[in-house]
Formats: sequence, structure tokens, C-alpha cells
Amino acid sequence: MTPPSVVLTIGGFDGSGGAGTLADARAIQLNGGYPCAIVTAVTAQNTKHVERVQPVSSELLRHQLHCVVDDFAIDAIKIGLLPNVECVDTVTQHLGTGRLRCPVVVDPVMCATSGTRLIDDDVLDGLMDRLVPHATLMTPNIAEATTLTSRSIKTIEDAVEAGRQLVDMGCKNVLVKGGHLDADRGTDVWCYDEGFETFEPAARLEHSVRGTGCMLSSSIACNLAQAKSMREAILSSKEFVLRAISNRHSLGQGTPLTTLGIQV
Ligand code: PLP
Repeated sequence: MTPPSVVLTIGGFDGSGGAGTLADARAIQLNGGYPCAIVTAVTAQNTKHVERVQPVSSELLRHQLHCVVDDFAIDAIKIGLLPNVECVDTVTQHLGTGRLRCPVVVDPVMCATSGTRLIDDDVLDGLMDRLVPHATLMTPNIAEATTLTSRSIKTIEDAVEAGRQLVDMGCKNVLVKGGHLDADRGTDVWCYDEGFETFEPAARLEHSVRGTGCMLSSSIACNLAQAKSMREAILSSKEFVLRAISNRHSLGQGTPLTTLGIQV
């Protein structure tokens, strides 16, 4: 039997399972990959709000990375929440070395849907200077793309310009998620070296469950680990997230959670 691809997610722990590494792990498994997870911050949160974000020490982060890399051949990496500069530095020092030479999908998480900021103010420079050049793909939403590029994004053309700016800084592909694009139905814009492509949404559903950004980027990483092309990986992951959104339950008192793949 062929073993599954191993996909490493590096991000925050959300005990409610709606977002962060728990949601990533489910998305990876549902796409046929084996998930490994490294935690950058422990958050105290539920389906209603974020109460606390506690970054782990650089030392603990390094130990987590060494243990996983020492044992597994990693086929793709998904990076989510990097709460402070120390985490950005520790992670970027390891990317592209040893067994971490594989596709890297970066979801540049900044805020929870509830509005709570999850990163320190000085993380942005580190993301731009040190993380962007390692990224095979970045998946910012409109707010994140606006912050990363200091551009106002109101139209698809603005989203293309923002995507191009990140590609010019060394990120190979950028998927600007259009879920919050005011002037449009929520078209996603994929920018790469040679040009760009737009993907029309089947429906505007982005706020109907938690963790859609986490699941999309993890699913793309898993698809890339399985040697799919970037286009195929994006399209099949968009379909996966739509399925995840349509299989949801209100298990907590706040935003619903996806229960895709859970047998009852
Ligand atoms: N908490 C963690 C640890 C996350 O990584 C993320 C998003 O990536 C969030 C919260 C935000 O998720 P949501 O937008 O569903 O609140």
C-alpha cells in the first residue's frame, strides 16, 4: 500500500477546533494526507471569541520542529499563525533546509473573524522580508493583502496588483481570496510569474463556518504534496471548502463548525 503524503502544519492551537492546527489537521486528513502539527501559540478561544493568545518560546518551537523533521520526510508545509518576530525567525531559519525542502503554503493570519488581532504589530516586516521569499503560495484575504502591500483593494484589478507585488517580492504564487471584496461577488485572484487567473465563486459563504482560510490553505498544501499542479490544487481545495461549509453544525454557541467527514 502506498503511504500517504506527510503534511506539516505550523500554526496556532485553537481548542475549539474551529481554526488553527486542529482544523488544518482535519483538512489534511480529509484530503488523504497524514497531518503533523507544530504549535506556534496556544490560544484560549471558542466559537464566540478569542480570550488569550500565548506564543510558545523559540526554544520550544525549535524542539518541536527538530522532533518532527528528525523523524518524517515532509511532503508539504502549511504555515498559519506566526504570532511574533521570534516565531517568524525560528520558522524561516528552518525552511528550505534539510527535510523542509518542499512546497510551502502561507496563510498570513492576522486577525480572528471576531476582530481580535492575533499577531504583534512588528510581525509584518518579518513576514514580508523573510517569509514571503520562501512561499510557494500565499493565501491572503483582502484585509491581509491590503496590510501586506499597503494598497487599497476595492476591485479585481486592485487584487491583481497586490498579488503581483507579492510575486515580485519572491512569493511564487498568490491567491488573493475575494470573499470580502466589496465591489465583486467574491472572485479569487491567482497571481503567478507569467500572469493571473480569476476564479468565480459558486456562492458567497465565507462567514458561515469558522476556519475556512485554515482549511483552504491546508487542503492546497496537501494537494501540492500529492504532486497536483497549483491550478488543480487550488480548484479542488475550493471545492473541498464548499463541501466543508455545507456540512456544518452549531456545536458551540457561536459560529458553526464544519463536521465534514465525521460519521455519526
Ligand atoms: N485562531 C487561530 C489559531 C487561527 O489560526 C485562525 C485563523 O487562521 C483563527 C483563530 C481565525 O479563525 P476565524 O477566522 O475562523 O476566527
